[in-house]
Amino acid sequence: MHTPVTIIGAGLGGLTLARVLHVHGIPSTVYEAETSPTARAQGGMLDIHDYNGQPALRAAGLIEEFRSLILEGRQAIRVLDRDGAVLFERADDGTDGRPEVLRGELRRILLDSLPAGTVRWGHKVSGVRALGEGRHEVTFADGTSVVTSLLVGADGAWSRVRPLLSDATPQYIGRSFVETFLLDADTRHPASAKAVGGGSLFVPEPGKGIQAHRESGGTLHTYVALTEPQDWFAAIDFTDPAAAAARIAREFDGWAPELTALITAGDTAPVLRPLHALPIGHRWDRVPGVTLLGDAAHLSAPNGEGANLAMYDGAELGKAIAAHPDAVEAALAEYEQTMFLRGAEAAAEGTQLHEFLFGDHAPHSLVAAFTEDDLS
Ligand SMILES: Cc1cc2nc3c(=O)[nH]c(=O)nc-3n(C[C@H](O)[C@H](O)[C@H](O)COP(=O)(O)OP(=O)(O)OC[C@H]3O[C@@H](n4cnc5c(N)ncnc54)[C@H](O)[C@@H]3O)c2cc1C
Repeated sequence: MHTPVTIIGAGLGGLTLARVLHVHGIPSTVYEAETSPTARAQGGMLDIHDYNGQPALRAAGLIEEFRSLILEGRQAIRVLDRDGAVLFERADDGTDGRPEVLRGELRRILLDSLPAGTVRWGHKVSGVRALGEGRHEVTFADGTSVVTSLLVGADGAWSRVRPLLSDATPQYIGRSFVETFLLDADTRHPASAKAVGGGSLFVPEPGKGIQAHRESGGTLHTYVALTEPQDWFAAIDFTDPAAAAARIAREFDGWAPELTALITAGDTAPVLRPLHALPIGHRWDRVPGVTLLGDAAHLSAPNGEGANLAMYDGAELGKAIAAHPDAVEAALAEYEQTMFLRGAEAAAEGTQLHEFLFGDHAPHSLVAAFTEDDLS
């Protein structure tokens, strides 16, 4: 393989692929739409699992760097009811196998591990075209283009590479999250900080719920879930943060004030995150010279696996390419065979998790899942 592997998207999946290729001495170029590593806040914590995210980082030779990022104690879990009563609690004894790190820091160690110039910032792909014999032309928004004999779409939910392989498009799952942040909460919002505890908080009810995480420095990061059509959210003016937060909080009338404060006392404007998914089991027939990884391949309802899977895909694809240096098609076929299976499995688990969280039997279904260890 004489041309560098061409990766679209510098998310966790694309960067892990680039790094694993580099570890095996294979050059790659990553084209990223954002203009710089700091163009967008990479908010949020990710729990990195010992069965997918961590092996990927090991393959990338970055496990020690990863360990230095771990926020101790954040694997604690609490489930409360709407009155703030504790239904389930598990402390973080360090043995859970899914330590939490900040997404931005994880992305930074991957970026720092690549040779200078690997990532080409400000390259938004506007079109892709098959040229035959496994070659593809990639065109960017500024009108420039490149031709490659190995193209990898790591460009997330709305992948521009995916149409080369499949007609599938993500569909709205009928639910959205509204994201808020409370800063310095131990001092400024002690009741909410206490309710969240040391790690993750879940307050689920049929069709809705509040999920919050303690991040670094007393930051509480909350996802408020509501099962409503997109039109319902479109009627809310998110350019007026206080009014939008108040409208969302109205859906939680009568809930404990330390819980509703997670919605109304935000230090940043609430952000609407509509949730989409590809069909479970999304797959395609082999097309020479191109493949997908991460959300581009198997976007699913958020279930704590997406970033882990994207990194695992990147590592597996990198290893497959390295194992078949003169047989790219064999590498892609080998990678896709197992990727399709793990993507389908995780997507099905995501649907089940949303049933535990927001189905008719919430919150008890979630408590039962934690108690019976159906959720790691
Ligand atoms: C609300 C929410 C919460 C989540 N929480 C978790 C969690 O706790 N744990 C977890 O594991 N997962 C979580 N996920 C899922 C996780 O964020 C994704 O699965 C993961 O980021 C996928 O990684 P990726 O590399 O495939 O894609 P992305 O992270 O989406 O990266 C794609 C990259 O491609 C770039 N790009 C896009 N289009 C173009 C283009 N046309 N040209 C060039 N570049 C382009 C983007 O700018 C981006 O940098 C959550 C998702 C949501 C929506």
